[in-house]
Amino acid sequence: MTTNPVHPTGTPGQPWGDAERALWLSRQVRQRSYVDDVVVRVDRLRGRFGVEQYGEVSYPPDRYPLFALRSRGWDDALPCALVTGGVHGYETSGVHGALQFLETAAERYAGRVNLLVAPCISPWAYERIHRWNANAVDPNRSFRADSPAAESAALMQLVAPWRARFALHIDLHETTDSDESEFRPALAARDGKPFEPGGIPDGFYTVGDAANPQLDFQRAIIEAVARVTHIAPADDKGEIIGSPVVAEGVILYDFRPLGLCAGVTDARYTTTTEVYPDSPRVTPQQCCDAQVAAVCAALDFALAHDGEARRV
Ligand SMILES: [Zn+2]
Repeated sequence: MTTNPVHPTGTPGQPWGDAERALWLSRQVRQRSYVDDVVVRVDRLRGRFGVEQYGEVSYPPDRYPLFALRSRGWDDALPCALVTGGVHGYETSGVHGALQFLETAAERYAGRVNLLVAPCISPWAYERIHRWNANAVDPNRSFRADSPAAESAALMQLVAPWRARFALHIDLHETTDSDESEFRPALAARDGKPFEPGGIPDGFYTVGDAANPQLDFQRAIIEAVARVTHIAPADDKGEIIGSPVVAEGVILYDFRPLGLCAGVTDARYTTTTEVYPDSPRVTPQQCCDAQVAAVCAALDFALAHDGEARRV
């Protein structure tokens, strides 16, 4: 895309203050229901998994209980794996993919791994199909001490007791056309910076940790997802979203310095999935299937390499 959309909120070159944030908030419209789409499905899983409300986010008059599901028969002798979805609420297959994994595949791993799944970390944004929370803060830049995002702080608190016990963390995301048409312009406007157009890759990719890339692990996920949907090619600079492609469909980010969710544990195997839902070649169901394929491939790889992975 080469258009340079001008974001309607604020004055170019000036970061938003309280008035601009309030104006932005007033323009956000609830478009779908967290209760209908997520809480109902979580409730149906209560017989099969332990369900815990690990926090609540409150943007009056709206309140959102936060739910995590864990394996029945949690066993301290087993490694732990964390699956997170909906850190970016608009990235639908991250949320629905995490739920589909629980409904269709998670029990296959019973007795081998303790699963902890938080399917929708940012419910306010899920309902408004937005990237940020109601304070115009990106939860996926906020996994840090004294987090400015309640959504991120709640997950960090949930994970803290097992932080060193996790062998795996897979964080489920999408890269969408609206990243370029809406959310990157909004970010530039919020921060008073010029908007620099970029490209949206056509296909699935993963983001590994620059400090711990685990490329064989990333490759195993790409191989599994390639059977469900196409993998994003590198652009003419050999990059995906401005980062060098280090293996087919794999780029690396600095998880911890950037405050990314995927840096929230000390797991040996960590990744962020990026499904592309706007391709004419995929359906919403295929996007969810791609997320489930990624989770299963990640678990299979981590469990096969468990001896190396354990950090008990
Ligand atoms: Zn995302």
